[in-house]
Amino acid sequence: MAELLIKNGVVFDPINGVKGEKMDICIRDGKIVESLHDEHGARVIDASGCVVMPGGVDAHAHIAGGKVNAGRLLRPEDGRRGLEPKRGVCKPCTGYSVPNTWATGYRYAKMGYTFVMEPAMPPLTARHTHEELVDTPIIDKAALPLIDNNWMTLQYVRDENYEMLSAYVAWMIRATRGYGIKIVNPGGTEAWGFAKNCGLDDPVPHWDVTPADIIRALAHANERYEMPHSIHVHGNMLGHPGNYETTLRTFDVVKGISASMQRQTMHTTHIQFFCYGGTSWKDFESKADEIAKYVNENEHITIDLGSIILGDTTTMTADGPMEYTLYRLTGRKWTNHDVELETGAGIVPFLYSSRNPVHSVQWTIGLELALLIKNPWKVVLSTDHPNAGPFIGYPILISMLMSKKRRDEVMKEVHPAVFDRSSLASIDRELDFHEIAIITRASAAKILGLHNHGKGHLGVGADADVAIYGISHEESDAGAVQRAFLNAKYTIKCGEIVVKDGEIVATPEGRTFYVEPECEESLMNEVMKDIERLFKEYYTVSLSNYPVQDVYTPHPYVIKAPMSG
Ligand SMILES: [Zn+2]
Repeated sequence: MAELLIKNGVVFDPINGVKGEKMDICIRDGKIVESLHDEHGARVIDASGCVVMPGGVDAHAHIAGGKVNAGRLLRPEDGRRGLEPKRGVCKPCTGYSVPNTWATGYRYAKMGYTFVMEPAMPPLTARHTHEELVDTPIIDKAALPLIDNNWMTLQYVRDENYEMLSAYVAWMIRATRGYGIKIVNPGGTEAWGFAKNCGLDDPVPHWDVTPADIIRALAHANERYEMPHSIHVHGNMLGHPGNYETTLRTFDVVKGISASMQRQTMHTTHIQFFCYGGTSWKDFESKADEIAKYVNENEHITIDLGSIILGDTTTMTADGPMEYTLYRLTGRKWTNHDVELETGAGIVPFLYSSRNPVHSVQWTIGLELALLIKNPWKVVLSTDHPNAGPFIGYPILISMLMSKKRRDEVMKEVHPAVFDRSSLASIDRELDFHEIAIITRASAAKILGLHNHGKGHLGVGADADVAIYGISHEESDAGAVQRAFLNAKYTIKCGEIVVKDGEIVATPEGRTFYVEPECEESLMNEVMKDIERLFKEYYTVSLSNYPVQDVYTPHPYVIKAPMSG
């Protein structure tokens, strides 16, 4: 029986209301326990002078699957940038903005993260996504299947057949071993097949439904089950000047729908890209204040930031038309992909330049949001890795959120447009370690519904995922904060020490979390008839080759989602 004692650390465990208390953490058999059986026989970590938090939880990072791999192929120059030879227990690493699977697992673990959500799994290529997730060491993970541009979804929404839609969604989440419903530019990716895009209330070509109809119907379908997570929405018009009005209207689409669990009814992702004012790139400005105001006044919405890291990265999204726009804007290399009947994707390399007025204002928006939204439980730190920047940049963002001085220093170095077109300069708020612990683990765990499954907290019975940062809870120097969060002194994953003094010392395999919505049999039989017909008539694969089998999830953690009462 392996026992571990973490002594004398200053603990931040927001879900359990622990706000910087000096206390010991007891671990046995991979779980947090009340007390040890044999204190003298246990391994002891002295965390004096350190900050102790639950393992980090990332609610939105593109780390695995077809488009991520295409990004690696498209950018050999990025691969070389992150090159690290085989060392110690670590396999070779490549990539900076699109790291290989090994680098992904190691780098997250070094930052004290132990769970990551891959937020865009095309159902048809779910196997590929799971193969890469299994190949990503240490961290636990899950994936959200893209369900919104799917022909079956469009058909049931058009026919207003919401019972069948909910059964279809249940089948799809089970078939892909997914975690919930992902929506990306609803209707727009289907429209892109005809070189078009969709606004929130524009009909999707040939379907006579609008993106708003799709979002509303899928929110209802989600709440028919006790799903741990709400719908996870990348809305329409991402990255377009003036899109903040669409964003506010998108928030309203699900207002009044009641959630089946104690949580939001819509998680809107990488919201930075949806906070834009102006009519063109010339008069582009931040509308983060408007978005923050809505989030402050309403309880049904949560967000992740999609905050910009200045520098080079790779953008990749199922939002094909958006990537085409970006390609036209930058003239850089571009690749585009259609996933039959379901979704698509595009990839374009991108440089967020501190000399560019638009990029500089974009950079302020993620920070403005984190500071203007009063309740940190509604906010998750993210860069929409790698779209607004690679996840390895999180410590830079943390240091800026904790230090007005650091923000002011950077604002002097970026384009002066930030002083006229963003409110960041006028914001004095500095987040403390408690609030950082919320937006980097506790809120993400609650928003994803993972807190009920041992993640994001250090209560008795939780997974023994612990990050120990070598920094005093009284430290305020931004450089020291950044260094501490980049390389944890210790990371413990399910009771095993995986990082010591910023180095990987063990590489256990992580688990795959997925949800099984429990639909009525008669309804499922009904929907199967439609699914069988669809596969016969349109798909290039047979139905029997479609669902993900056991071999793709060797370490499963299954969450049952019964019909909601
Ligand atoms: Zn994303």
